[in-house]
Amino acid sequence: MATDTIKKVCVVGAGMSGLAAARELRHEGLAVTVMEQRSDVGGQWLYDPRTDADDPLGAAVPVKVHGSMYASVRLISARECMGFSDFQFVPRPGAAGRDARRFPGRREVYCYLKDFCAAFGLADAVRLNTRILHVAVAPPGEEARGGEVRWMVRSVHVEPDGSEDGVAAEEVFDAVVVANGHYSQPRLPKIQGMEEWSRRQLHSHSYRVPDPYHDEVVVIVGCGDSGLDIALDLSGVAKEVHLSAKSVEAATATPAVSRMLANHAGMRLHPQIDRLCEDGQVVFADGSCVVADTVIYCTGYRYSFPFLDTAGAVAVDAGGGRVGPLYEHTFPPALAPSLSFVGVPMRVFAPWFFEAQARWVALVLAGKAALPPEAEMMRAVEEYYRARELAGVPAHLAHAIPVVDRSEIWEFVYRHSDLPRMEDWKVELFMSSLLNSKDDRETFRDRDDDNESIREGLQRWRLGAGAQYEATLAAAACSSSGNHVHDDAEALARAPKPPSPALCQVSTMKTEQHQII
Ligand SMILES: Cc1cc2nc3c(=O)[nH]c(=O)nc-3n(C[C@H](O)[C@H](O)[C@H](O)COP(=O)(O)OP(=O)(O)OC[C@H]3O[C@@H](n4cnc5c(N)ncnc54)[C@H](O)[C@@H]3O)c2cc1C
Repeated sequence: MATDTIKKVCVVGAGMSGLAAARELRHEGLAVTVMEQRSDVGGQWLYDPRTDADDPLGAAVPVKVHGSMYASVRLISARECMGFSDFQFVPRPGAAGRDARRFPGRREVYCYLKDFCAAFGLADAVRLNTRILHVAVAPPGEEARGGEVRWMVRSVHVEPDGSEDGVAAEEVFDAVVVANGHYSQPRLPKIQGMEEWSRRQLHSHSYRVPDPYHDEVVVIVGCGDSGLDIALDLSGVAKEVHLSAKSVEAATATPAVSRMLANHAGMRLHPQIDRLCEDGQVVFADGSCVVADTVIYCTGYRYSFPFLDTAGAVAVDAGGGRVGPLYEHTFPPALAPSLSFVGVPMRVFAPWFFEAQARWVALVLAGKAALPPEAEMMRAVEEYYRARELAGVPAHLAHAIPVVDRSEIWEFVYRHSDLPRMEDWKVELFMSSLLNSKDDRETFRDRDDDNESIREGLQRWRLGAGAQYEATLAAAACSSSGNHVHDDAEALARAPKPPSPALCQVSTMKTEQHQII
């Protein structure tokens, strides 16, 4: 590809999704600039002790602090299920500061993503401390040679304290990949009295450590992963922890919550909050009430793209749970392929699924895969929405592709990418961890009850994937110490990707690549 025909692609964000996109785009010979507002890569996994202190509910759009991780976060799925296809998330017990557990703490994921960056020479593609303020179709006269739409990206330098510094810069790109994450902008419930309540209330986005709640009565709204983990984090520090569930029946359908209540004397379960009273009373739907010091809303997040101006071609619905129209959660039909999204789906195997999305985007932008015509993509999106509605999927789960019903995930990954098949033992491991978490929230991460097939798979995985990880890192270190700077998209495109570990390909299921031309 001649230098002047190499497409320039801007990626918004250097979290798991943005890094996946950067690697795949470079592999296809595209010139990639990842703009990241923070001072390092890693996205949510780069812990930020700061919070939106003057807006603890995170009601303003956008929130000032991207990070929503609390200090005690440990993975909810096993590391073996959570790696890039050719750079598995292996434990590195020998390396300083690493956490070799199967369900490690958040910092281990950050270290893994840093290793990923180093192994694939991505650092020079990432422009840190750079916040994207505005992304819109470039004005007339800026079109590509064939008349295709290009994109004007306005960005500004960000100081370590988050303040914006200097004059915004404008650059034109052939394509933009949006990978800004969706665990930052709180989704808040509407509760009578919430606006007038004068005691402390915050969204889990602004929760970091239990100390500030010492000896307090805390009400936690929501019994999802964050709600249960924060309740456990607070037990023994707070005087009482009251969990408020949307449905008590659903919350106690599996033993985990009942066990928590049995193990922690100061913990109670209530139905939804009916109202918050000025005197600090929290009244629940069954008429019971407590006088609380703090209410923490663990009620999830909204999709939010405050920088994106598509003149209505892509929009987030009122509830914040659906962004679209997006063909297969990735391409907005009217602006495809020059605008795409990586990382929108929820409840998928991450980063494996994002890697497949990124691969698809890269193949399309490189001209190696074709999208259907706009009208056909639009029809597919509408059919998808209709099917989800008919199936009774709530609007805020529009992009939740349930791992439990894996067919949609497999269908996507194998249709749009050439990634090796996810091995059966990993799926078994994922499912058994999920069941264990519903059985005992406090111990599921440390259980040692793998069945025979998981144990065998694990043994093979440790040997093959571990060696490959170290070899990839060593090769990258060698090439960078030889002053081999990846500043040329063509050279990068020629650089072979390390082979997928043979052991990751024990299964020979065919990868379908129709649409790849
Ligand atoms: C408390 C908590 C626990 C979690 N636990 C798990 C778990 O156990 N397992 C799991 O798989 N997932 C978990 N997640 C989800 C996790 O966020 C995703 O796995 C992953 O981080 C998503 O990566 P991403 O790149 O899509 O988004 P992010 O990690 O959010 O990265 C997006 C990046 O974009 C940058 N950005 C945003 N806007 C701009 C802008 N305008 N300009 C420049 N840069 C911008 C951000 O600074 C950030 O670095 C958890 C999330 C939270 C909050």
